[in-house]
Amino acid sequence: MKSVQLPRQLVNLILTHVQGSPSAEVCGLIAIGVDKSLCCYPIANCAEDAAHRYRMDPSHQIDAMRQMREREQELFAIYHSHPTSSAAPSVIDIADAGYPEALYLIVSLNTKGVLEMRGFRIRDGHSNEVALSL
Ligand SMILES: [Zn+2]
Repeated sequence: MKSVQLPRQLVNLILTHVQGSPSAEVCGLIAIGVDKSLCCYPIANCAEDAAHRYRMDPSHQIDAMRQMREREQELFAIYHSHPTSSAAPSVIDIADAGYPEALYLIVSLNTKGVLEMRGFRIRDGHSNEVALSL
């Protein structure tokens, strides 16, 4: 299993976003530039049941995608948090995953005191864990 290296600064941005919302899932996109630098785009979660699932606000997502194109970046990863469950994709996460080439990052707040981040590739209704080196 090939591991994916995530810069500490990016991990800290994601964890700060997640920690700011202890009772609702947060979500966002991570883009990679031509120079391989990574950039974080937090997106509003507009799911009705935001405590247990996420749906990226469509207009925020379109804006972020446009900014990525303007900056010659590509989608690298999609992250979201699980306030009360483990850092594994839910049945809905797997069913709704629309970007087979993206890395799905899930952060769990369930582990008291310690945030857990895990990575997955999700395609054709299956998820495979990707090792992260943080
Ligand atoms: Zn989820």
